[in-house]
Amino acid sequence: MKPAPFDYHRPEDLQSALSLLGTHTDASIIAGGQSLVPMMNYRLAQPEHLIDINRLSELDYIREDGDQITIGALARHDAIHASELIAEHMPLISHAYEWIAHKAVRNRGTLCGNLCHADPASEMPAIIQVLEATLILARNGSSREVPAKEFFVGTYDTVCEEDEMLVELRIPKPTAGTGWGFEEVSMRKGDFAWAAVVCLLRVENGRLDDVRVAVSGAAEIALRLPDLEVALAGQAPSSDIFENAATKAVDALAPVGSATVSADYKRDLVRALLPRVLSAATARAS
Ligand SMILES: Cc1cc2nc3c(=O)[nH]c(=O)nc-3n(C[C@H](O)[C@H](O)[C@H](O)COP(=O)(O)OP(=O)(O)OC[C@H]3O[C@@H](n4cnc5c(N)ncnc54)[C@H](O)[C@@H]3O)c2cc1C
Repeated sequence: MKPAPFDYHRPEDLQSALSLLGTHTDASIIAGGQSLVPMMNYRLAQPEHLIDINRLSELDYIREDGDQITIGALARHDAIHASELIAEHMPLISHAYEWIAHKAVRNRGTLCGNLCHADPASEMPAIIQVLEATLILARNGSSREVPAKEFFVGTYDTVCEEDEMLVELRIPKPTAGTGWGFEEVSMRKGDFAWAAVVCLLRVENGRLDDVRVAVSGAAEIALRLPDLEVALAGQAPSSDIFENAATKAVDALAPVGSATVSADYKRDLVRALLPRVLSAATARAS
């Protein structure tokens, strides 16, 4: 399949890109092209204007900025996967990349493009929610900050407006001693998740504290599980507590089945993965 005709723009800097976005209706940004190009080839996306941000080298960074890490719109998956800064402060991200796509895709695809694509079976939308990241959306002449939990509004849908660009992701460094867990089941390693469960937590005086859990693949968007988090906070960690909490949490989920996996099976997966993720995070917390 070939894409529908479009006008191609290749700005040299951020300001020019934002001006183009503000001028043209029905314009799409192309970053790595790993999701957009297949969508265009299948004619599921038919933008009239394509704004290529690959020359915006000012957005290609992963930086330490006080108590947060900032990631620019052009930081590729592979650069983030290989980053020592990320490995030191956010090993959850480094670990999860073992499950995300394949080398060729990660070499070109960007984390910000992945978030804007908002596939509900994508792992990073769940991860940035437990990390409580902030997304910086810019348009010509202004910008705004959006908390990760408010960014995703539907399948392939976010609060990013047509004339806005996600320019930066700001992720607070988890405090020392925070434990993390990640589990995924997919058809093959590198495929989108049938279900993925991620967790961050702390253990204070033998009790669970600041428990954050999110799932991908099990609903129309990646989402946090606030009832589960509240139920676990202050409890002494044990496998019984985790099993009971997992059973209650999946009752509240409304997974969406697909051609390859039923909604009931997804619910079973989340039910099985939750206690494993909570146990792993507890073991890593110190
Ligand atoms: C074979 C294959 C396997 C894959 N497996 C996985 C997987 O297991 N897990 C997973 O999460 N992903 C997977 N992906 C998707 C991959 O992660 C993509 O890299 C990612 O989804 C999109 O990033 P991109 O930079 O290529 O974005 P693009 O394809 O360029 O753009 C995607 C969308 O985001 C918009 N966009 C891009 N950048 C911005 C921006 N800065 N601001 C506003 N809008 C923007 C575009 O307009 C478009 O709508 C896979 C892809 C392939 C081809």
